Amino acid sequence: MNGVDHDGYAVLVLAARKLDEKLALGVLEGARFRARACGTVEALERGIERGAGLVLLAEEALDAKGIDSLVSVVSHQPPWSDIPFVVLTSGGGATGHSQRRSQMLSKLGHVTLLERPIRIATLIASVRAGLSSRGRQYEVRNQLTELVRQREELGRSNAALEQFAYAAAHDLREPLRNVSLYVQLLSERCGDQLNGQADRFIKEVIDGTDRMQTLVEDLLGYTRVLHNPEEGEPVADANVVLDQVLESMRSTLERAGAEIIRRPLPVARVFPPHLYQVLQNLISNAVKYRSECTPVVEVEAIPDQKLAHFIVRDNGIGIASDFHDRIFKVFKRLHNRSIPGTGMGLAICQRIVSHYGGHIWVESEVGKGAEFHFTLPNGA
Ligand code: ADP
Repeated sequence: MNGVDHDGYAVLVLAARKLDEKLALGVLEGARFRARACGTVEALERGIERGAGLVLLAEEALDAKGIDSLVSVVSHQPPWSDIPFVVLTSGGGATGHSQRRSQMLSKLGHVTLLERPIRIATLIASVRAGLSSRGRQYEVRNQLTELVRQREELGRSNAALEQFAYAAAHDLREPLRNVSLYVQLLSERCGDQLNGQADRFIKEVIDGTDRMQTLVEDLLGYTRVLHNPEEGEPVADANVVLDQVLESMRSTLERAGAEIIRRPLPVARVFPPHLYQVLQNLISNAVKYRSECTPVVEVEAIPDQKLAHFIVRDNGIGIASDFHDRIFKVFKRLHNRSIPGTGMGLAICQRIVSHYGGHIWVESEVGKGAEFHFTLPNGA
């Protein structure tokens, strides 16, 4: 019963007559329950708001107004809470009046009706069962609290990590620029004093710093991709975004002789520049990792009511199944420098898609092309 305060298991009692109240308290205390008389509906409501395990009430202690007011208090309890009510009803056959009252009482949610005359053992068993169900509700509450705490902690540590990556990448830029600049100056101004081997070394240094500059810029791009959100609603017509991507890549596509096959795409709940970045990365990879044959890139969507489910398919070199997860990680590449890249493109795609609650994955085999899938919330 971790994390439950003293009142969490209190039984609140509401009876119409003092004598009934006293009797009920006597029975409950005798069975070692913590019982508290409320006297009025208002006091009962305050007791529920403060926290209680169960409510034991006599049907005649509540009129229609009292039930409504109680229903309103119960409905404002947190979502995990479903406080049990044990209601002592009048005996005899069901009348229209008693049926109406039972219907109204059922609005309270978790209600057990006990018809009088009641056996004490039945009352005690019902209260015990109600309190035990209340205990399970507290466990759910504790788990929810823990989940929220963990999520907040994760959010904080992600933000700190992102801040660190951003600061590191940002601060690396300047010394890097200096190294690059002075090595170039060395080559230009002192070239005649250096031999062929020194020239080769200088070229290596310049290549290395160029590469590092690209890595640093891509890392900055990764950390900043979700910054500066646009104003307004995130909605993008993927057909329009695809037009823009293809236009911006026109010369690359022409040079590669790529054939683009496009089918109608949905509207997604995403800021257009984010969708642009995902489609552009995937299409540019589809061309970059082409095989011997003419690159054919298909962009389509699977109809789905809740999700905008996109597919970018190519007939390129494909990816072995061992690497299907790894390629989405920061700086992970399957190729050497013969094909340019930093291994950041798919990590950026994943960051964007996850930000909107979607998923991205690849289906592929070596030599059989690749099919990248990603989902975003449907914007229609
Ligand atoms: P980059 O292209 O800069 O290396 P990405 O993150 O975009 O970085 O891709 C990671 C790796 O995944 C690539 O290096 C490549 O090996 C593999 N890859 C990505 N897209 C494809 C594709 N369409 N076909 C085959 N391999 C791919």
